[in-house]
Amino acid sequence: MAPDTSHLPLTGSHDNTSRAGGPGAVPSADLFSPAEPGLPVMERFYTLQGEGFHSGKAAWFIRLAGCDVGCVWCDVRDSWDAARHPVLPIDQLVREASSSPGRLAVITGGEPLMHDCSGLTARLRVAGFATHIETSGAWPLTGDWDWITLSPKKFKAPLPAIAPLASELKVVIYNKSDFDWAESWAAEMNPGCLLYLQPEWSRSETVTPLIIEYIKHHPRWRFSLQLHKYIHVP
Ligand code: SF4
Repeated sequence: MAPDTSHLPLTGSHDNTSRAGGPGAVPSADLFSPAEPGLPVMERFYTLQGEGFHSGKAAWFIRLAGCDVGCVWCDVRDSWDAARHPVLPIDQLVREASSSPGRLAVITGGEPLMHDCSGLTARLRVAGFATHIETSGAWPLTGDWDWITLSPKKFKAPLPAIAPLASELKVVIYNKSDFDWAESWAAEMNPGCLLYLQPEWSRSETVTPLIIEYIKHHPRWRFSLQLHKYIHVP
């Protein structure tokens, strides 16, 4: 019997309220132009969402390539240069996603909003997917999203327009000053936005106790663990 490789990432070398829209939204016809370009993709894989409100849910991830944010602690630096990754047709990306039983698609990066996500999200919705994005917010929002995770980065701040549209705010804590950064963005969110603090992985041992104490004193925040790193899935 052939080994089950459905859990393995498909990398480019082998061929990441006020919500926008809803799962039943019908895309406009002009999003289906045959001239529609593809998107640079670093990898795509079926796994469990490890972060934020939807942690633990089965999800198809598409990690678009390209990022100009430049986080010093970035753990997906291979995504930064989009030219190193293949441009794949949207039809192919949706067909691959549809091969899994889950109907939650998470578009991540890199910084996915460096690309026009309209065509991809329209087709994913037609295929029955809820569309989620994880973004730094540093580029203008495109696409139709059921869930927007805004993860603001000091290295290139978000554009203000995305703040009231975010479903959850997820701030990575690398050192103590990041709590002030988190609060400054929390003040920009709509009242229904969920607020998460997440330890930066390499500093987890140091900052996790700080986050626990912070949340105990500021209980509107929640803790986001990178579950996937503990259960060893992509
Ligand atoms: Fe890395 Fe994400 Fe920061 Fe870009 S925004 S540098 S991909 S952590």
